[in-house]
Amino acid sequence: MESLLRRGGTVRVLDDLSTGRRENLAALAGPRCELIEGSVRDLRLFREAMEGCGRVFHLAASVGVALITARPAECLRNNLEGTQNLFDAVTAQRHPPRVMLFSSSEVYGKSSRVPLREDEELVLGPTSVPRWSYASAKIVGEFQALAAHRARGLPVTVVRCFNTCGPRQLSAYGMVLPRFLEQALRGQRLTVYGDGRQTRCFSDVADVVEQVLLLEGHPAAAGEVFNVGNDEEISILELARLIVEISGSRSEVVNVPYPSGYGPQFEDVPRRVPDLTKLRAYLGNTPETDLRTLIERTLRGHRADPARAAGAAAPPV
Ligand code: UDP
Repeated sequence: MESLLRRGGTVRVLDDLSTGRRENLAALAGPRCELIEGSVRDLRLFREAMEGCGRVFHLAASVGVALITARPAECLRNNLEGTQNLFDAVTAQRHPPRVMLFSSSEVYGKSSRVPLREDEELVLGPTSVPRWSYASAKIVGEFQALAAHRARGLPVTVVRCFNTCGPRQLSAYGMVLPRFLEQALRGQRLTVYGDGRQTRCFSDVADVVEQVLLLEGHPAAAGEVFNVGNDEEISILELARLIVEISGSRSEVVNVPYPSGYGPQFEDVPRRVPDLTKLRAYLGNTPETDLRTLIERTLRGHRADPARAAGAAAPPV
């Protein structure tokens, strides 16, 4: 939203603030920015919110492995209905807006191919593992987007984000980077699940915003799917050690079993690295903040946030 406002025009936000914080928007209160507090499950509200919009960025979703695993039915409903309502509301507009649909790298599931290309097979686990319900809902959204593009020429682009992080990201829904930072800052043990050899690539939200806005302005990107993010791979154990080093914490790094709330059949993604060839072919080289810089920037944000220091930045799952 801040990037959109900097580029001019007006921005309307539809958010139920279930995982966000009003303070993140407060600084921007002004005539060019409007917050409608409500859910994307409310089709009437969604339609009203979309009235007159030239561009729509659909990010609203229940996210985070901890949340999805704890409340799968509710999350599934939010994610499926929210996206269905998006397409219903878009269709109801006289001039359909440009749509950027936020999907997720989670759709690749357990695929062992590295790096992951957009046309890679999607390998999900069984329905008895609630985690895969999130990827399933995102996959349905992607099918809807591509069908709307093919059938009605809707200018929609799908972006698959890879572990996007930044100073405002909450830890309450399981996300590893803010969790480790908070543990390090409080002198608690950093809890590495399993052996910690699983890998991820962490992207700075500022880079992701820039890449998404460039794709949004690219006429040939409509009807396409893109990996968006950074391809610097690190194991979770190494990440924990790096966070301890950068924060100057005395915390210990420990290997622990997956939380009991994840269930006996919990499945993790062993390795996840994006292939950014397609993104670079469309956009050229875009800034990709290295992991150390991302951690330092996020750390400064955490230190400056009194709610986080008090452990009150987010509701529990
Ligand atoms: N993870 C961990 N300790 C934590 C939280 C997460 O070791 O306190 C691991 C988790 O098992 C996974 C990785 O960190 O292998 C990334 O987890 P996250 O939930 O942030 O994202 P995702 O699994 O969706 O990539």
